[in-house]
Amino acid sequence: METRRPLIVDIKRDSREDGPGIRTVAFFKGCPLRCAFCHNPEAQETGPEIAFAEERCIQCGECVKACPRAAIALENFDRIDRSRCDGCGQCAAVCRGGALRVIGAYWPVEKLAEALLRDAAFYRHSGGGVTLSGGECTMFPAYVQDVLRRLKAHNIHVAVETSGHFEWKAFSRKILPHLDLVLIDLKLADRAESIRYLSQSNESILHNLRRLLAQDTVEVRVRIPLIPGITDSYGNLAAIVDFLRAAGAHDVSLLPYNPLGLAMYRRLGRHVPDLPSSFTAPEREQELFKIFRGIIAEPTKHTDELIRTAGTIRQPPFAAQQQATTCSRKCLTEEREL
Ligand code: SF4
Ligand code: SF4
Repeated sequence: METRRPLIVDIKRDSREDGPGIRTVAFFKGCPLRCAFCHNPEAQETGPEIAFAEERCIQCGECVKACPRAAIALENFDRIDRSRCDGCGQCAAVCRGGALRVIGAYWPVEKLAEALLRDAAFYRHSGGGVTLSGGECTMFPAYVQDVLRRLKAHNIHVAVETSGHFEWKAFSRKILPHLDLVLIDLKLADRAESIRYLSQSNESILHNLRRLLAQDTVEVRVRIPLIPGITDSYGNLAAIVDFLRAAGAHDVSLLPYNPLGLAMYRRLGRHVPDLPSSFTAPEREQELFKIFRGIIAEPTKHTDELIRTAGTIRQPPFAAQQQATTCSRKCLTEEREL
């Protein structure tokens, strides 16, 4: 029995990139990882939070009067004393400038399913559906199972986006049987680097990914976020390709770096990660794609095994199916087959 009620950060309609066709995406609040380069920091904590956009504040002082925990002072650099704030949202309710926003709201399952079914006609016509994302939606298997059952009762295509860091038993029993597609990130191949940059070892991510790729009932697409100086090294990309080949993967995408989450760290009163504040230059992106193509074309120690066990993997040079799009997280995506 789940003790936590999941909160939803946002529901995004008309997404074209979080899976096939036109989709609605529900972003869950809560994640077991603390990636140093997370671009959805507002989806890390499970509880509600207040975001403060300084540029919208008209200094009216209404929030100070409304706060029952005396957590707000106009003269404070960060405005909100987060150690006192419980996310009740009373300040946001009176904010005339629209500077304060509560992040995270509980949706009863039936209400969420109802909202996700609203665009069912568009899903049918476009080959789209619903994607549950986050944060890490797999943290709430019973709730997610209930949502998925309601969607599948209407024959909706459903996907989850996951970091791969989840408890396999609950996932495989409650979530996997209802899915059509798993979109899974693989950021780092090295265990020590994972502990350093993701806050956790990648052991369970690799283990879960292997198990996902070993089953053949649900489609699995792997994405590699290209974080400058962290995940975009030749060594990491080569090690990831080597792992994916051995595991039988045949669908992987590169996600170029997206700096748009940095502003949210400030709004949440958190330390802003030391990362580039602009998108990666197109020339560098092309260079990274070229490097990646080169890695894919290289035979690896696992190539023989891979060709024997995974018929869908093509001999190099692989016929790459390229597609540059803008994802709902504002990343450019290039998709190809390994
Ligand atoms: S969310 Fe509630 S406790 Fe937090 S600052 Fe606003 S009014 Fe105060
Ligand atoms: S209520 Fe909103 S606009 Fe007014 S001082 Fe507070 S944050 Fe600024």
